[in-house]
Amino acid sequence: QGRPVKVTVTGAAGQIGYALLFRIASGHLLGPDVPVRLSLLEIPQAVKAAEGTAMELDDCAFPLLQGIDITDDVNQAFDGTSVGLLVGARPRTKGMERGDLLQANGGIFGPQGKAINDHAADDVRVLVVGNPANTNALIAQSHAPDVPAERFTAMTRLDHNRALSQLAAKLDVPVTAITRMTIWGNHSATQYPDLYNAEVNGKIAAEQVDEPWLRDTFIPTVAKRGAAIIEARGASSAASAANAALNHVHDWFNGTPEGDWTSVALPSDGSYGVPEGLISSFPAISRHGKWEIVQGLPLNAFSRDRINASVRELTEERDAVTQLGLI
Ligand code: NDP
Repeated sequence: QGRPVKVTVTGAAGQIGYALLFRIASGHLLGPDVPVRLSLLEIPQAVKAAEGTAMELDDCAFPLLQGIDITDDVNQAFDGTSVGLLVGARPRTKGMERGDLLQANGGIFGPQGKAINDHAADDVRVLVVGNPANTNALIAQSHAPDVPAERFTAMTRLDHNRALSQLAAKLDVPVTAITRMTIWGNHSATQYPDLYNAEVNGKIAAEQVDEPWLRDTFIPTVAKRGAAIIEARGASSAASAANAALNHVHDWFNGTPEGDWTSVALPSDGSYGVPEGLISSFPAISRHGKWEIVQGLPLNAFSRDRINASVRELTEERDAVTQLGLI
């Protein structure tokens, strides 16, 4: 075995952390031959719970797991890290204003961005899962001026997977029949899952479903799936969110399949009219460890409107954190 790759997970004692850590340690993040060293960051009152999870990780005797560090010190947590999974965030509680939510998360993701800047490995790659994920990623990225901006991403892969699964069920095809799915914009209710560029067995998906289903069932079902899971399960989605995080990082390291792409929220280079620097979801392929935005896709008026609305929301979030002095 070679040198282990250090992977930092924040909010490690949370429910997504619990669904994530065992699969990282068993090779589902980087591949079955890559040894890992886990670094768990928690707030002081949750360190003990993280220690409990670490005891269980030990008890699995995973061949690839070469060590576990647990800390509430952000600098230590990111020291030498190559993969940062930023899961812990301040949830919105009842009566909380959006400004308060952004402020609380600024206090988490700003220092984490700085710690990544100052202490992480040169090849560090970051995935933000904690909500509001796109804007939290923007805050972290803006505190890491020495790290290439493109190394900061936010997760829309769960939305992407939900879109695949809803469409597959509708057309009674396996999910593997579907390619070129895209989630555009913000990981929020304004996200736009695009069936006009997606393909089912090589044919445009939108032409195989009726328009009212696409507009009034498919899009809201994908966008509101998180709430439906809470309603059914009595708790928010965790295993599916963890699975999507693994898919995202796995593809970043190992590449996307030829002829297909996935959905990644990454800093815009101005493609498709999305203002430069906004962390917005795009169709993306991964080559040689880098995400590239798929260029030249046609967007009809309906798609354009939906993307504009989601990008407008991201712009407002960026303006709000700028005004709060968080970026
Ligand atoms: P979860 O593990 O369930 O969720 C963590 C974050 O992921 C939340 O912000 C949640 O957003 C977000 N998320 C993104 N996509 C999804 C999705 N599809 N389904 C569900 N969640 C999603 O939260 P827990 O409360 O169980 O655990 C959080 C842990 O983080 C706690 O142990 C806490 O102590 C820790 N924490 C650590 C920090 C640190 O390391 N510095 C800072 C803050 C918290 P949403 O709120 O919208 O559900």
